[in-house]
Amino acid sequence: MTDNRIGRIVIVGGGTAGWMSAAMLARALGPGVAISLVESEAIGTVGVGEASIPQLRNFNAFIGLDEDAFLRATEGTIKLGIEFVDWLRPGHRYMHAFGPVGRPLGVTPFHHYWLDARRRGTAGDDFWAWSANALAARAGRFGRVPTSPAQAGGAEPLTWAFHFDAALYARHLRTRAEARGVARVEGRIVGVDQDGETGFLRAVTLEGERRVEGDLFIDCSGFRGLLIQEALETGYEDWREWLPMDSAWAVPSRDEAPPVPYTRAWARDAGWQWRIPLRHRTGNGHVFSSAWTDKDAAARVLMDNLEGEALAEPRLLTFVTGRRKRSWNRNVVALGLAAGFMEPLESTSIHLVQSGLARLLALFPDKGFDPLLAAEFNRQTADEYARIRDFLVLHYKATEREDTPFWASRRTMEIPDTLAERMALFASSGRVFSRDDDLFKESSWVQVLLGQGVTPAATHPMTGVVADDQIDGWLDDLSRITARTAAALPSHAAFLGRAETRLAG
Ligand code: FAD
Repeated sequence: MTDNRIGRIVIVGGGTAGWMSAAMLARALGPGVAISLVESEAIGTVGVGEASIPQLRNFNAFIGLDEDAFLRATEGTIKLGIEFVDWLRPGHRYMHAFGPVGRPLGVTPFHHYWLDARRRGTAGDDFWAWSANALAARAGRFGRVPTSPAQAGGAEPLTWAFHFDAALYARHLRTRAEARGVARVEGRIVGVDQDGETGFLRAVTLEGERRVEGDLFIDCSGFRGLLIQEALETGYEDWREWLPMDSAWAVPSRDEAPPVPYTRAWARDAGWQWRIPLRHRTGNGHVFSSAWTDKDAAARVLMDNLEGEALAEPRLLTFVTGRRKRSWNRNVVALGLAAGFMEPLESTSIHLVQSGLARLLALFPDKGFDPLLAAEFNRQTADEYARIRDFLVLHYKATEREDTPFWASRRTMEIPDTLAERMALFASSGRVFSRDDDLFKESSWVQVLLGQGVTPAATHPMTGVVADDQIDGWLDDLSRITARTAAALPSHAAFLGRAETRLAG
């Protein structure tokens, strides 16, 4: 089998990862490759996954899913960013808004000019006054136009993602995948059939002595990693020293009206709490570290801080932050929770499924399993995970909080060198760069660095080329235009109402 073309792909698992894989592979590979998906209703899915990042729009476009149809099918709302409350210190809040803040002047990034003007006392403390996304989020507004700075009179247009019900999304993707010929197999996998010499999988075996044979297996079986770990014993890199969250209580509550177009994340004594407004309910969760609090106390924190009535009993999920040592092992590629999990702080998990699929297609083993393809896949995956990990760790490391043992421990923890170097460069000179294909670009790093209280000692020397009063005038104009752009948008509720009817009619 190792030198044959891939004619049969078997996807194991029908959670968000499994059905995203089915929809994308069927669309990309066409009818020449037979795709089957095995899932077990008796086992179920994690079914949380409610917040996304803007890249999901590309995935939907690739599979031909119209945005309004997506919002309708998933009870979705718009997400313009995340508001972090109490992370730097109690009472403090800031936003990580999608898209740029301000605009560069020549080649020098915006934040250098703003930092200089703030030091001179000619710009206020609110960096986000130059972010159309942040202003629209605060005002509860959203619209798809303007689409360019020219249309917006010089301000940047909005950049958005979604809040959505991941279980409904998976259901919708299933319909699309099945329409493209993906065969769904219901049943519990109880074993695998492996080649005695190479260890390559030949088939998965199901209860009732059924077999599903394949050439390439996509392991989307969730945390347990049925193929990648239980069959192939690939191993796991444990990142709990940096990201000690290992549990989450999740509970839906009655809708907040109207839904705000951003996620809220409150720091709590031994973790943090999310609030994600959908149209049919609000998603809530408390992510915590069992090393610093017990699960009953953590459940009380969640339930005591709900804004609406709970619609179900809270559900406990447990996990180990980190990633599989190799996501591609022999003829198995792990995606979704089977590949790793870094906690939901910046809503990166569903994106990692999407980027893993794009990577698999770029390195697709059409003429058998060249180990170089797998090695490149694993190198790129490891890089992507490590960069996201660093970005998440920043939220905990850069804090003034020492008021609980958990926060005191985060402030003083040793961090990966890659993050330490980025923080030090920013602290000394205001400079931060995204590297290669970093998921989070400069604007995200700057917002979280500033939001978490890392203030540069100096700014870029090129800010001195332009006279101060010219800079001040430019900043004034830009903040006025940005505010006007945001104020002209319809309310988020009105936008959703129109999305509801746009395709219905
Ligand atoms: P699962 O949903 O666990 O699906 C596993 C599938 O494998 C199921 O269909 C199951 O039936 C099947 N299966 C397992 N064993 C067998 C077997 N023996 N036989 C047959 N079938 C089997 N991601 C985001 O992007 N944004 C978020 O806001 C977000 N929030 C999260 C919050 C929490 C607390 C957690 C834990 C995760 C969150 N995630 C989030 C991650 C997100 O939920 C997952 O990445 C996503 O749902 C993909 O999960 P999955 O499909 O890999 O696994």
